[in-house]
Amino acid sequence: MTDVSPVLDRADQNLPSSLDNLFELLRIQSISTDPAFKPECRKAAEWLTAYLTKLGFTASVRDTPGHPMVVAHHDAASPDAPHVLFYGHYDVQPVDPIELWESDPFAPAIKDMGNGRKILVGRGTSDDKGQLMTFVEAVRAYKEIKGALPVRITILFEGEEESGSPSLKPFLEDNATELKADYALVCDTGMWDSDTPAIAAALRGLVGEEVTINAADRDLHSGLYGGAAANPIHILSDILAGLHDETGRITLPGFYDGVEETPANIKASWETLDRSAKNFLGEVGLSIPSGEKGRSVLELTWARPTAEVNGVWGGYTGAGFKTVIAAKASAKVSFRLVGQQNPAAIRDSFRAYVRSKVPADCSVEFHEHGASPAIHLSYDSPVLTKAKNALSNEWPKPAIVIGMGGSIPIVGDFQKMLGMESLMVGFGLADDRIHSPNEKYELRSYHKGIRSWVRILDALA
Ligand SMILES: [Zn+2]
Repeated sequence: MTDVSPVLDRADQNLPSSLDNLFELLRIQSISTDPAFKPECRKAAEWLTAYLTKLGFTASVRDTPGHPMVVAHHDAASPDAPHVLFYGHYDVQPVDPIELWESDPFAPAIKDMGNGRKILVGRGTSDDKGQLMTFVEAVRAYKEIKGALPVRITILFEGEEESGSPSLKPFLEDNATELKADYALVCDTGMWDSDTPAIAAALRGLVGEEVTINAADRDLHSGLYGGAAANPIHILSDILAGLHDETGRITLPGFYDGVEETPANIKASWETLDRSAKNFLGEVGLSIPSGEKGRSVLELTWARPTAEVNGVWGGYTGAGFKTVIAAKASAKVSFRLVGQQNPAAIRDSFRAYVRSKVPADCSVEFHEHGASPAIHLSYDSPVLTKAKNALSNEWPKPAIVIGMGGSIPIVGDFQKMLGMESLMVGFGLADDRIHSPNEKYELRSYHKGIRSWVRILDALA
């Protein structure tokens, strides 16, 4: 680490021109899902490539079957410095319904909200052009003052994130050697609240299973056969009910192998967040936490594995009534995974458990619906600690390390295809209206976002 204050001062002085640069990019109508805007997507890629070249990167527009990627490289001052891959996306969502916009989505502007608060309005201000430019402008300030960079940087900007990223996997595969770094920095997420920066460090994995219990070779009359013939709905219900014990723990043998307890200091930091069961579940009309007893809703959704029945069917469910014993019954079951849980082992354990419950004269079929391991950066990883301290120095409240209940495909792809962990840092806020009319980004997010990256880059060296 060096004395970073001259670089932060430069970032402050640069703010007007940093805004001009962002606004140039925002004016390009790079809507990836609509073929009419294909030339605009290329224009955005070309604009970024030209700008990065001006900053001293070796940058190029890279063609794909869809919209192009931008790849850029810059060496560090020291050959021993770490190598980071920075990811963002230059494409944006469509603007309709256009009549709900208070100003032209592609004529970005600064709006004064009073009390010193200013916002940037326009499509892409938050998702993701504003966010990716926080990093680029931090690099600029750093170079202007220090003449060199503290880490080796590879940049990957994608132009299809808002339309399913069809070209991403093949591109990562074809360019793995070029793109592989020590770790990735992904800037497409948000802060916890307007004073509290967040680093997302854990994403739960998933195993999907569909199970069908077959009993008699046809649907039966429940008066003629009831009491004697096996009822597959009963068998299935018993199986599903047996997945959890009375404390909410999942009963499958070996299920918790690889699940680590969340460190006490991380749990304590979550306790400070305004996310009680009452307010979290209250938003959906509930109030009593389900799942494992004695754990907070944040822990349950970020750091604990689950077994959930997502659908169940069988027998007669139409109008009126039919006294039938069904021939078969089915369910879709998913498991959210954390830590080092092994998706294949969990699928095997589930299937063995189900088979053990099926009577000898019945049979069972399984269909798999995908599997992905959880992704997490270990809570004591030096990169995480450095980024956390750097963010805490910039913002009013200390940075928190959070989990995410779902998955972010790019992070899984970096892990799987490049063997690289990702640090997810972003400065969006929940009310940024991304994907909606009147998208905005706080001027403060842009300004302090740039300053945050200056601090993070310096800390990572
Ligand atoms: Zn995004």
